[in-house]
Amino acid sequence: MIPESFIQELLHRVDVVDLIDGYVPLKKAGANFAACCPFHNEKSPSFTVSPSKQFYHCFGCGAHGTAIGFLMEYSGLGFIDAIKELSAKVGLQMPEDDVRRPHDGPKISALTDLMARAAKYYYEQLKLSEKAINYLKGRGVSGEIAQKFGIGYAPDGWQNLGAAFEDYTIAELQVAGLVIKNEQGRLYDRFRDRVMFPIMNQKGEVIAFGGRVMGEGEPKYLNSPETPLFEKGREVFGLPQARAALRDKDTAIVVEGYMDVVALAQHGVGNAVATLGTATTATHVQKLLRQVDRIVYCFDGDNAGRKAAWRALENSLEALPEQKSIGFVFLPDTEDPDSFVRSQGTEAFERMIAQAMPLSEFLLRELASHCDMTSAEGRARLVAEAKPLLSRLQTPLLRLQLVKRLAEASGFSQPEVERLCDLRPIVRPAPARVPRQAPSLLRPLLRLLLQKPELAKGLPQDALPANSAEARAVRHLCATILAAGDPAPPYAALLERLRGNEDESILREAAAELMQQPFAEEDIDAEFDGAVKRLQEGENKRAFDLLQEKVSKLGVSGLSGEEKQQYLQALSARGKTG
Ligand SMILES: [Zn+2]
Repeated sequence: MIPESFIQELLHRVDVVDLIDGYVPLKKAGANFAACCPFHNEKSPSFTVSPSKQFYHCFGCGAHGTAIGFLMEYSGLGFIDAIKELSAKVGLQMPEDDVRRPHDGPKISALTDLMARAAKYYYEQLKLSEKAINYLKGRGVSGEIAQKFGIGYAPDGWQNLGAAFEDYTIAELQVAGLVIKNEQGRLYDRFRDRVMFPIMNQKGEVIAFGGRVMGEGEPKYLNSPETPLFEKGREVFGLPQARAALRDKDTAIVVEGYMDVVALAQHGVGNAVATLGTATTATHVQKLLRQVDRIVYCFDGDNAGRKAAWRALENSLEALPEQKSIGFVFLPDTEDPDSFVRSQGTEAFERMIAQAMPLSEFLLRELASHCDMTSAEGRARLVAEAKPLLSRLQTPLLRLQLVKRLAEASGFSQPEVERLCDLRPIVRPAPARVPRQAPSLLRPLLRLLLQKPELAKGLPQDALPANSAEARAVRHLCATILAAGDPAPPYAALLERLRGNEDESILREAAAELMQQPFAEEDIDAEFDGAVKRLQEGENKRAFDLLQEKVSKLGVSGLSGEEKQQYLQALSARGKTG
């Protein structure tokens, strides 16, 4: 856990306008800054950044967050990594326990430095190797693309890296997976006579290498082992290079090898990435779906390719949120993406990606391919085999779609399929949009509290209606403000405290409204008193209406003693105010 106080300090030190401006040039627009949204395609700017409240909001797609949220969304970083990166930017020392570090091993930063030096060495060696240059030229790779991906060459020989490091024997080189110690204690380079593809993390730091043989030889691809820097199931090749194209196309194409990624980039298809010698994992899927709405797996049409695609499908099911989609493309026999784009051209490739087979179709086709669909038993088996897959889906729409198609294919009715698959309603977190009461009264109150959190102290809790989403959000916000103590935290810090909370979306909406129409500082206290007063009057009126209704049904004698007193008081108060 990162202490709240650290997050608050960090948000205080970082200027969200500076940060975002480094990625998306901002223009001044009134009190705020604006740009075309980096998270959805648009022609006129609806992405707005508030310097005073230190958050951004897109009026087009609803993207909303603090500096931390921006880094997470823009760079696809996790919460901890985003905090780590921001801390480094402003020179804050992150609390020790939270820095990911292997026990008693070398520091991450030391390993990252080693990898950067090795990458530089391999890159320089490429220029000296006619063989490697010819190989890349033969594959149609230009100097520009080779540079973009930092492609290098590990020369033949056993201890070449000795030239890149003063001390070849340091343990860190082995920890980083660059040097291997054999049983006799002899040290030698892991990568020899291979074209080298640096594997980078989201920040563009080299964390591993993939080496490809140029002629015959095994293995064709050799990857770095897992190290403190590199976890195969988490990383994809080509992500930093693909970032702009991913945003542009809103689609990530997942291919099998680095050479495919490079070849596609060479032909103007910049949104391809590759997993690294593993099946696509749920982590990969989540990572990519943070940046795009659609993933298309582009695999060979042979058996191995279909198997890889099936594993990708299985691992995508749970990670697939609503409004995101997955597609599958199988290349004609004997083609890989590299050869396909070279022989058929970019347009044909893009068309194929656009027409990818939807997940539901691939799933049914694969299942049906090993069930005898001409017999009743076979069709029942189809449903039985679909059952474990359906139960993993978290998206009601896709599940419904699959149930429909299963019903069509199997001859069972939809309710029968649902029963056979033992499908229960998908349990989702409580929807933020429960019916709202008196929004006109609570909305301004939310905005006031967001603009000046210390007002929370002056809000009488009994003025709030009992059961509305907005009232719940107001209560929650007040409780969060009061729990944080003095001074009350600013909006951005509150937003981080409420990250992932059920009331988050209402608060975001209110903050977005506030961004467009902030209260004047000199009016804010009076506005708050007025809002509280109106709220109390509303609550009083509601109580009075209830009593009035009872009276009209039962007469005044139907009221309890206490109710009678309330009723008379309210009547006289109403008489006074006219
Ligand atoms: Zn947007």
